[in-house]
Amino acid sequence: MASNSYFTVGVIGFWIVILNFRLGRLSKEEKGKNQKNMLASALKILLIEDSLAEARLLEEFLQQAKSKEFSLVHVKRLREAIEQLNQDSFDAILLDLTLPDSQGLASLPPLISLAPSIPIVVLTNTNDDELAIEAVRQGAQDYLVKRQVNSQLLVRSLYYAIERKQMSESLRELNRTLETRVEERTAELMKAKEINQLKSEFVSMLSHDFRNPLNAILLSAGFLQHHEKKLTQEKKHAHYQLIRSAIKNMAQLLDEALVLGKADAGKFEFRPAPLALKLFCHDLIEELELSIGEKHQLVFSTGGGFAEALWDENLLRHILTNLLANSIKYSPEGGIIRFELIGQEKIVIFRIQDQGIGIPEEDKERLFQPFHRASNVDTIPGTGLGLAIVKRCVEAHGGEISVQSEVGVGTTFIVTLPVMVQAYCG
Ligand code: ADP
Repeated sequence: MASNSYFTVGVIGFWIVILNFRLGRLSKEEKGKNQKNMLASALKILLIEDSLAEARLLEEFLQQAKSKEFSLVHVKRLREAIEQLNQDSFDAILLDLTLPDSQGLASLPPLISLAPSIPIVVLTNTNDDELAIEAVRQGAQDYLVKRQVNSQLLVRSLYYAIERKQMSESLRELNRTLETRVEERTAELMKAKEINQLKSEFVSMLSHDFRNPLNAILLSAGFLQHHEKKLTQEKKHAHYQLIRSAIKNMAQLLDEALVLGKADAGKFEFRPAPLALKLFCHDLIEELELSIGEKHQLVFSTGGGFAEALWDENLLRHILTNLLANSIKYSPEGGIIRFELIGQEKIVIFRIQDQGIGIPEEDKERLFQPFHRASNVDTIPGTGLGLAIVKRCVEAHGGEISVQSEVGVGTTFIVTLPVMVQAYCG
């Protein structure tokens, strides 16, 4: 019994310390606001008590309170209490632990689960100390021994219960916010780790891809230096040609790596501006035709309607030149490359189709990853960065890209971009 009393004193002491701590931490403004709120309206109490006499007495005590007005709703059974809680909101519950339809602590869980934010003060008989403490352990805010209750004690207990409940609710809320922050930070760290790993992989791939043309340059330059007199004009020309194409390859690698780096650093800004899309594509085709000569045939066609819309010219150029250049590069001489531009109400479709070497099934999945080149490229030069850049540009434009391809038959890339009109962009 003595240990129980110590425990009771301990529990109450603990709450008073916490309460003082919280009150101490409340700003003057908050304190004033809380007090005003408490005083502004009557506190609504749900009393669950089967004895009418006890209920009347408690009501009397509350009426005697000078500091505050209370409005009491009295029910005799747990079932009725649940009905009340479903219909109305209360500031606190006074709960007798001996009810006709529920005994002892069994009344607590349904009430707590139905109204988790309403504080509960349990009412016990003189010999129910252990039960009362267990009730506090299980989520009640306080307990009162019926025979010892008076107006002052009852009112104070209700105030404290409400205050403690509010405090535990705000602590829980704070806890939830902290948990979310921790989860967010963990996700950010994981992402940063992933990005770091990708970066170091990228750097090692890049240096590997630089080494090949560098070695070729070193070898040819050495040959030209040491065997200058012995080499025929033709051989010399071949070595100079090799050096030139190795340098070209490195320059392209550097350019594409820079573009990709920019995209991954989030510096690929989407800058939509009014653009005559058909004319833009037309000019792009003409530029390409000039650089490829007669080796391939580019066929451009359009369908559908094109309302005035906003496009990011820079992103579009990256997307289309990469896809068209690939179609040319991976097609045999004389191959036809079809470029279709289809305008619909909300989207525009770009279809680039070739009759080239095609893409093996097992390579399709990794096609848009940096440095990935399909197994059938043979000696066709490339960096494996073009499609990775295209994908980022398409995403920056809010669109999608897909590919259909069959080895030896040909490849079709389909880019779908949403149409953005002036009104949507402000
Ligand atoms: P690359 O510089 O190697 O062309 P890309 O990133 O542009 O790099 O393309 C990645 C790979 O996808 C290419 O190496 C090639 O294997 C395949 N590919 C892309 N476009 C085509 C195409 N039109 N026809 C066949 N293969 C293609």
